[in-house]
Amino acid sequence: MDNVLTFKRGRIPLLISMPHPGTELTGAVAQGLVAGAEELSDTDWHIPRLYAFAEALGASTLAASYSRYVIDLNRPADDTPLYNTATTGLYPDTLFDGRPLYKAGMTPSAQERARYLEQIWMPYHQTLASELQRLKAEFGYALLWDAHSICSAVPRLFDGKLPDFNLGTFNGASCDPSLATELTRTCAQHPAYSHVLNGRFKGGYITRHYGAPEQAIHAVQLELAQSTYMDEVAPFTYREPLAQNTQRVLQALLETLLQWGEKRYG
Ligand SMILES: [Zn+2]
Repeated sequence: MDNVLTFKRGRIPLLISMPHPGTELTGAVAQGLVAGAEELSDTDWHIPRLYAFAEALGASTLAASYSRYVIDLNRPADDTPLYNTATTGLYPDTLFDGRPLYKAGMTPSAQERARYLEQIWMPYHQTLASELQRLKAEFGYALLWDAHSICSAVPRLFDGKLPDFNLGTFNGASCDPSLATELTRTCAQHPAYSHVLNGRFKGGYITRHYGAPEQAIHAVQLELAQSTYMDEVAPFTYREPLAQNTQRVLQALLETLLQWGEKRYG
C-alpha cells in the first residue's frame, strides 16, 4: 500500500497527530460496506485543513490517509477496548450509531486485516514514535497534540450535545497537570465555546500510549465538536467563516502548549 500517511517535519517541539481524517478505502472494505456507509460519516472531517495554520507555527504534522473503517489508528494493536461504554474497535464492525458496517459475510478476512495492521497501522505509529524521539533529542522534550473531531450529537456514544472543546489527558496521566490547567484556562477565555477536561473523551490509545510526562513527553487529545466548523450532515461541507473563529481558539491552545513547554523546559 502506498501513501498511507502524510508527514511534514516542523521546527518546534510539537507534533500534531491526525489519525482519523482519512477517506481512502481498500477494495475489500469498499465492497463489503452496507448501503449508506460509503458516506464515511464517522470521519474526523477536514482536520488537516482546519489545522493547516499550525505549519506556519512550525509544528510537525502527521495525518492518516485511510479511513478508520479500514483500521483505527487510535486503538491498540491487540484491540483492548478503550472504554467500558459503547465504543468501536481496531477493525470497526459498526458505525457510531450502532448500525452494522458490513453486509452479512462481507467483513474483510483476518489475513486482509493483518495486512492493514502491518501496512497502515505500523507505519503511522513508527512515524509518530520516531518523531517524538527526534523532538525529545533535539529540544529535551516533546509535545503531542492528538487532533480529532466528532458529530456533536451521537446518542449511542453520549447523551445530549457534546461540549465544543473536549480535552483529554487520560485523567491526568498523559501530561503534566499544570499544562491541563493552562489549556483549560485558555478555553475559558473563549466563552463563546463550551469545553470540558476528561469528560466523555479522555484520550484514546495515542494519548495514553505516548504521553509520558515523567519522560518529558506530554500528550493531549482534543475531540472537537464538528458543529464548530462544518455541516454535520452529508456532504459534510467545511464552513469557512465558522472554521476561522474556531481556528483562533485552536491557535490559542497550541500557543498555550508551546509557552508552557518553554517555561517548563526552556
Ligand atoms: Zn478521531
